[in-house]
Formats: sequence, C-alpha cells, structure tokens
Amino acid sequence: MNIYRRNFLKKTLHGLATSSSLFALACQDKRIPGALHKTVVVVGAGISGLAAAKCLQDTGFEVIVLEAQDKVGGRLRTNRSLGVAFDEGASWIHGIRRNPITDLAKDAGMATFETLDESQKSFDIGGVLRNSELYQNTEDEFYRIMKNMMKNGKANESFETVFNQLYPEKSKDILWKFLISAFLTFDTGDLDKLSSLLYYEGEEYGGVEVIATNGYDNIPNYLAKGLDVRLNQKVSKIDYTSEKVKVQHSNGVLSADFVLVTVPLGVLKAQVINFEPALPNFKQTAIQKVGMSCVNKFFLLWETAFWDDVQYITYTPEIPDKFNYFVNIKKFNPNHNALMTFAYADYARQTETMSDSQVIAEIMNHLRDIYGKNIPNPIKMLRTKWQSNENAFGAYSYTAVGTEMQHFEDLAAEVNNRLFFAGEHTEKDYFSTAHGGYLSGVREAEKIVALV
Ligand SMILES: Cc1cc2nc3c(=O)[nH]c(=O)nc-3n(C[C@H](O)[C@H](O)[C@H](O)COP(=O)(O)OP(=O)(O)OC[C@H]3O[C@@H](n4cnc5c(N)ncnc54)[C@H](O)[C@@H]3O)c2cc1C
Repeated sequence: MNIYRRNFLKKTLHGLATSSSLFALACQDKRIPGALHKTVVVVGAGISGLAAAKCLQDTGFEVIVLEAQDKVGGRLRTNRSLGVAFDEGASWIHGIRRNPITDLAKDAGMATFETLDESQKSFDIGGVLRNSELYQNTEDEFYRIMKNMMKNGKANESFETVFNQLYPEKSKDILWKFLISAFLTFDTGDLDKLSSLLYYEGEEYGGVEVIATNGYDNIPNYLAKGLDVRLNQKVSKIDYTSEKVKVQHSNGVLSADFVLVTVPLGVLKAQVINFEPALPNFKQTAIQKVGMSCVNKFFLLWETAFWDDVQYITYTPEIPDKFNYFVNIKKFNPNHNALMTFAYADYARQTETMSDSQVIAEIMNHLRDIYGKNIPNPIKMLRTKWQSNENAFGAYSYTAVGTEMQHFEDLAAEVNNRLFFAGEHTEKDYFSTAHGGYLSGVREAEKIVALV
C-alpha cells in the first residue's frame, strides 16, 4: 500500500473518519457477566483476529485463537534477517489523525517516520531527471481525471476499458502509465479488472503518513500478549449446524459458542475452509465478486549508497507496475544502505515465477538507467510472494468489475448469530488497510458482546 492514493483520496474526500469511537467502546476493560463461560474460537491471528480476541477476552469470554502460521501478524509481517526491519506486508499508517493504529503503534513500541511526497525525484527512460513542473502539472491533471472519470464508468466495464476509450493518447504515455500504476493499481488491483465505477471508494484519515521503521509486527505481537494463541493450527472445516460450532484444525476439533473467521479474502475464495452447511448464497457471491489484488515488495541492500538523498526515487518504465518506485530506507535507518521497491497486479504475479537473479537483473536495469552502468548489484535481497502464499492468496481486497459496496457488508454479515467474519475485506469504508483490519475485529467483538 503506498502513499500516493492517500494524497489523491485526501484531495477528493477530505478525510472523514469517525470510526475510532469503536476503538474506545469495545476495548474498555469491562467485564460482562454474560460472557462468563462462553467460548469463542477466532480463526486467524492477523490484526483483525487479535483485536477481536483481546476485546473479547477483556470482557470475560474464554478465547482461543487458531493460527495456521508459526507466528502471529498475518499480513503485518516483518523480516529482520538482514539486521533491519523489512515489512513484507503493511509499511505505512495512512493518515495518523484519529487512526486507531496511531495509538496502538505507540503502545506497542512501533517507531515511525513521516514520509513526504515532496521528497521525490522522478526519472524518465534514459535516466533523464523529469522537469518537476511538467511532472506536477501531469499529476494535477491525473487527480482531476480520477475525480471525475467514474461519471463515465459502467457496471460491466473495467477502469482500463473506460480510460482507454476516453484518453487513448494518455494510455500510451509513460508518465501517465506510471501515475496510474503507482497512484491507483498499487492500492487497488489490475486495471482490466478494476471497477470503472468504484475505483476510488474508501475513506481516509487525515494527518500525515508515517512509515514503520522498526517493524509493523510490533503491533500484532503486542495485541497477542496474554492471549491463548495456538500456532501452526490450520483450520480446514467449520461445522455450525448445531448450537456449539465445531472447528476442525491441524491438531483436532474445538467447539465454541461463537466462531470468528478472519482469514483473508484470498483464502475464502480458495475454499480452504469447508463450511458445514455451505455459507449462504449472498456471502458466496460477495466472496466471488470482491477482488483480491497482488502486490510484491523487494528489499535490496548494498555496501554503499549510490542514489539521491531523497525519500522516493521514481522511474517510468514502458511496462507498468514494474519496479517503478523506490523507497530510500537509508532516510530512516541511516546505517543501512537499502532501497525497497514494488511490483503490482499482473507483473507482481509474474515476479513469483522469476528467480532472485532474474528479479535483481530487472530491478538493476532500472537503477542503472538512472545511476549508470557501473553501480553494483545488491549484496542481499529479500522478497515477497503474496499470490502463492497459501495463508493469503494475494495482498488485499479491491473493488473489481461486478463488486458492489454491499458486498463488503455481506462479507461482514454474521450467520445464525454463531459464525462471525472480520478482516480488512469486511470493512466497507477502510478495506485493504491495517486500520480496516483492526476496526473489523473490534466491530465483530462488539457484535458478540451484544449477544450475551
Ligand atoms: C504487500 C502489502 C502491503 C500493504 N501495505 C499496507 C500499508 O502500507 N498500510 C496499511 O494500512 N495496510 C497495508 N496492507 C494491508 C494490511 O496489511 C492488511 O489489510 C491487514 O494486515 C489485514 O489484516 P487481517 O487481520 O484482515 O488479515 P491477515 O493479517 O491476513 O490475518 C489473517 C490470518 O489468518 C491466518 N490464516 C489463513 N488461513 C488460515 C486457516 N485456514 N486457518 C487458520 N489461520 C489461517 C493467516 O495466516 C493470517 O495470520 C498491505 C498488505 C500487503 C500484503
């Protein structure tokens, strides 16, 4: 998830969030007599599952969290094998004002650094530094078009179809390709599948953007303290035919009064969990209709830095969605000469079939075009493969052709007051974000509390 759409949306939607009140309500440490001896199984120890589990345990429920992986956090996942935090999933808190993640980050000891769009250099093919006035004018025009293009959108047509019809020249221009890729595809999904009506949906918090500098996993690790989290427990079946819900996992079967399913949309689409009886039709339709995108991240380390002393270096290749911007890690971790770059949508999936040396060669083609043939290869690279990750099958949800906003509510709907659903893909206003995941967990905890 990058910073660009955040600015685009802020310019268009003015940051309206009020949902942090949910945070205050549900997470108060208040014991509820009716919760005593009631059991809840939470499936998934990502931020949504952990937030719900903590709230429920604080109110007196007996809570067990079943997690398929060997650690908590899900898509808040940090790799420190190079001696510096590389966040494989979320990196940014998007808008710190009234964002529940802001306080959570402070409590959890997650350090942050303010990122600024202005601290950027944009390079054309051939390594030519782009004229900043031309860049700014094009960016302004891009915002104007994005703000209005949905008026020409059609329910059965993709963003790509409508944009190409309206702006055939722009669709071939590499700066436009870059702006659409980095400002839109990154935060949503493949343009040929993205809704031409709903591509801009989602609300935003105000305030600055900050990036985690010592690992986003501080938050799930903090939330998990004191919880009964059972790792390496993949859930394969949930039977909610009788009053007690039975959850089959790697080590056996648990039974509970309430079950909260927080697995990613990609996992629901892949039908990893067999629901008995089958989920209602409206939910199955929503699982099918909401899109699941792919973004991959690449972290590269050198002995010495050869790049500009700015926060972002952007490049505009012919092939969109391919290593087109670089975050200068050195700006907030000065002892590490590292850059982080990205691939999105189809190209992101393609990278998962490429070897490390192929990936490095492609990234270095872009950097050498900017900084010259003699710059060295990185000494180390870390990378993600979110599409083939069997506990996610993608990066985050987006509004695909055929998605309706009601589908997000359908994904959030409980079934028989026993089976509940949370996760970023269930938050109509804040889907695809860490705060969306968090708010969805708190929301479902409140629903369960209200039943006892
Ligand atoms: C590359 C990338 C970049 C991102 N950038 C940002 C960003 O900068 N800012 C931002 O706000 N958001 C960002 N996001 C989105 C954010 O990370 C997610 O929205 C959020 O972490 C999702 O939380 P969740 O609890 O819904 O799901 P998850 O974190 O995926 O948690 C679900 C859990 O369920 C587990 N699970 C799956 N299957 C099973 C099973 N069968 N049995 C038991 N457990 C199972 C998984 O292992 C996982 O731990 C990014 C995501 C990605 C992938």
